[in-house]
Amino acid sequence: MAKFDVRSGICLLCSELLLLNMVGCGGHRMTLPEVRPVAAVFEPLQDDLRKSYATLFEVAPTLEYSDSQIEKMRQYLEQAQDYCVGRFESVAGEYQRRVDDDQAALKKSSVTEEQRHTLHCRIQENRALKSQADVISQQAIPVAYDNRKAKLDLIQKWPAELTSIRQSIADGSYKHRRWADVQDIGFREVQANQKDDIKIGQEAVKDLKQSGLMPKEMDNQVVVEYINSLAKKLAPNSDLQVPLVVTVLDSKEINAFALPGGYLFLERGLIEAADDEAELAGVLTHEMSHVVARHGHRLMTKGAIASIIYQMAQIAAVVLTGGVAGIGTYYALQYGFYGLGLTLNLTLLGVNRDFEMEADQLGMQYAWKAGYDPSGYVRFFDKIATKEGYVNGASWFRSHPPFYQRMVEAEREEMYLPKQASPMVNSADFMAMKEALKTVVANADRESRKKPSLIGPEQGCPAPTKLVYEADQPIETICSAPLQASR
Ligand SMILES: [Zn+2]
Repeated sequence: MAKFDVRSGICLLCSELLLLNMVGCGGHRMTLPEVRPVAAVFEPLQDDLRKSYATLFEVAPTLEYSDSQIEKMRQYLEQAQDYCVGRFESVAGEYQRRVDDDQAALKKSSVTEEQRHTLHCRIQENRALKSQADVISQQAIPVAYDNRKAKLDLIQKWPAELTSIRQSIADGSYKHRRWADVQDIGFREVQANQKDDIKIGQEAVKDLKQSGLMPKEMDNQVVVEYINSLAKKLAPNSDLQVPLVVTVLDSKEINAFALPGGYLFLERGLIEAADDEAELAGVLTHEMSHVVARHGHRLMTKGAIASIIYQMAQIAAVVLTGGVAGIGTYYALQYGFYGLGLTLNLTLLGVNRDFEMEADQLGMQYAWKAGYDPSGYVRFFDKIATKEGYVNGASWFRSHPPFYQRMVEAEREEMYLPKQASPMVNSADFMAMKEALKTVVANADRESRKKPSLIGPEQGCPAPTKLVYEADQPIETICSAPLQASR
């Protein structure tokens, strides 16, 4: 019990400090933001920040916010994010306290078998709720606010940028940009010795499969064959010098990633989220570009890859054995709160600001060369970004961080690429694949409904509660909704 006395002492101390500086124990704001632009500016600006990137590229030159209004909004967003993260951290802390209390109760000698069962169920439930609160505070909230801030930058800076892009088209200076030689795609060398990555990639794939974290491969032949034929269509229009090996994973996570040497993984959730072939082509060519430019290789050594896989295997061991520490994680995996994408180390995937922009540029060029509308990738990105707080997409944003410069560079490349007469956007094969996918999704949903009993080792518990949160819910409602699930 001494443990609890110490904790409540600290909490008391903290709540006194709160009154002084409105900062909680976790170092986050405990109150709503103090700064915000005047209502006449705040409301319309909030509405503008909910628009898609594509819409903002169009309307930004007509908007008339002053720099100081934009600056106030930026401060507001910073404070609002901090407050929101703090709220969910304190909710997570509350669930942890309930777990601690129930664990202490288990130690009492008077506890009956019936009470023990109830306590086990409650511990299981509260661990799962804590895990959900963690994912929301650590992933969903930062992603939603990063997008808001990137859009605010766009409103402020895009008009001037657009003028300079038009100028560089008019005076021909755009022909001197990096990788401007699009007529030589397939004959230029983006990075020497791509083939050297094959062995590293092969080993990483093998280790990943052995770790047990890899979702099972999709076995629907229509979907698998479609994705492979699309990849075959795209590869000859790129600077790839290694064979492309594409694997479709049967997981609801919205994610795609490439390992060094040409090993590309596409998760089912991403294919579900794509609305046309140009979007999928954009995603595939973006990932191919990481391989072409050897981003994974350039960030790490072979030893580093081994240690990342080892860490993942440790996570997997806990998850798969249903070990005590892993129940929350397991629950979250079951419900798609996070998956492979959130456990993969970003270094392994070659994620870094410059590399992302390079892969965006090359990817758009390859999609364009193959005859697709090069804006497909940006449209896909935009769609996921505009579904606010979309937790299933959190791992996508983790490896594809939103930021202003990235969106501008993509828009710029699209304006520089020679116009196509009739770019491909969709195909009958894509539509047939989407039909086949419906069956796969229906089966997977049916399977997952059977799973709640697998959540933890204690059987016969009441149905688990979900934290008050819906996919697509705007971030403000997440932050202001009542948070405590009833107990
Ligand atoms: Zn990327």
